Amino acid sequence: MMLKLPEGAAFVLRRLRDSGFQGYVVGGCVRDSLLGRVPKDWDVCTDALPKEMQRVFRGQHVIETGLKHGTLTVMYNREPYEVTTFRVDGEYTDHRHPDEVRFVKNVVDDLSRRDFTVNAMAWNPDVGLVDAFGGQEDLQAGLIRCVGEAEKRFGEDALRIMRALRFASTYGFAIQADTAAAIHRLKDTLADVAAERIRVELAKLLCGPGAGEILREYTDVVFAILPQLAPMQGFDQRTPYHAYDVWEHTIRAVESVPPTEVLRLTMLLHDSGKPAAFTVDENGVGHAYGHQKSSVVLAEQVLSYLRVDNATRDRVLLLVEHHDWPLSTERTLLKRRLNRLGEEALRQLIDVQQADAMGKGTEAPADIRVGMDGIRRALQELLDEQPCVTLKDMAVNGRDLMAEGIAHGKQLGEMLPWLLNEVINDRLPNERETLLAAARAHQDAGEA
Ligand code: ATP
Ligand code: MG
Repeated sequence: MMLKLPEGAAFVLRRLRDSGFQGYVVGGCVRDSLLGRVPKDWDVCTDALPKEMQRVFRGQHVIETGLKHGTLTVMYNREPYEVTTFRVDGEYTDHRHPDEVRFVKNVVDDLSRRDFTVNAMAWNPDVGLVDAFGGQEDLQAGLIRCVGEAEKRFGEDALRIMRALRFASTYGFAIQADTAAAIHRLKDTLADVAAERIRVELAKLLCGPGAGEILREYTDVVFAILPQLAPMQGFDQRTPYHAYDVWEHTIRAVESVPPTEVLRLTMLLHDSGKPAAFTVDENGVGHAYGHQKSSVVLAEQVLSYLRVDNATRDRVLLLVEHHDWPLSTERTLLKRRLNRLGEEALRQLIDVQQADAMGKGTEAPADIRVGMDGIRRALQELLDEQPCVTLKDMAVNGRDLMAEGIAHGKQLGEMLPWLLNEVINDRLPNERETLLAAARAHQDAGEA
């Protein structure tokens, strides 16, 4: 079996071999190559000790930050290649970090410390594939399976629980029965994992093609990290507008939105406040008035726990808060939405509303799509006109109004928004002379 290596990885392997050491590409790059995908990065493992690696790559641009744990980063054509000494991990006492690492001489020992069989393969051109744990077979069967005893491996490092779900989602794989059982049993140890790491894995999980299935099968794990979401499960909305409970609706909405972190987090959180905002009227029909606001409250908690960056957080909260904001093809309505949201967030809101509708299970998907595509088209036509929707798009500014002697001070502060509102609602064209005349008339009317 041949793998197609980038020049830099081939160089690193050659240099190690020519210096009398073993070297293999290993882990994710081998897995992705065998899947026919292009690996993001190429990691190398070797029997060379850190000091020996330094000697082997002397004269090469290297970065030594990981050297204590056996990793040297070798730069080649400005691309980094991580070269790591074969090692086994010592005892784990905190569900996350080994207390020590020990360097070893045998590649199979190094592979045995890796998380899943599909990640525990190594390759070089002389030896070919080293697959001591059945990784290739699991890759073909589409299975995530721990190397060794699942319970022990998740006990060592709880982040592996999230990695298992993430790989299952991104590759559309199933999780092998023992591995799955251990995940359910040990989910609460995720509390020991840094939230930043959980966020990274959760984002990849949510964006994978298998996200819906994983959320459904591993609901207990999701609620172990995000207990705020738990009330959604089994929550009957008692309304003809929904065919599912809030959690199943949420899962379907997540699956139906384009796979970006912002959109998938938005759908995960958009109805989280529904159970808290729920009331039943005298006819026995359920309502969730104001659930947007209570969802925002829970979303804030979840996003700050996950240490999500501010830009992502602000956008998700904006979309959660406005997820029910009426949209239509009507141009002045679209201009008002553009004024409040901007183009990017408005496009996202259309995606959110489409996914929300898809998740309700009461309307034909094709009809939903036709309706939303109509709105997208109307928005595009409007944008092609470069409409005036903010103060800075206006054909007059405060200085113009002052120069014309139309308004000063506080009046100036009110005049411009008034003019903008007239323009947005198509009552005035965005033309300098017309706006100045309208401003003058408005001013006179106000003083009269
Ligand atoms: P990606 O494509 O997302 O980079 P990856 O498998 O390469 O996936 P990395 O985090 O880059 O993931 O890790 C590289 C390799 O290191 C993995 O393939 C696996 O062999 C090993 N590994 C990573 N994290 C763990 C862990 N928590 N426990 C055990 N082995 C791990
Ligand atoms: Mg990787």
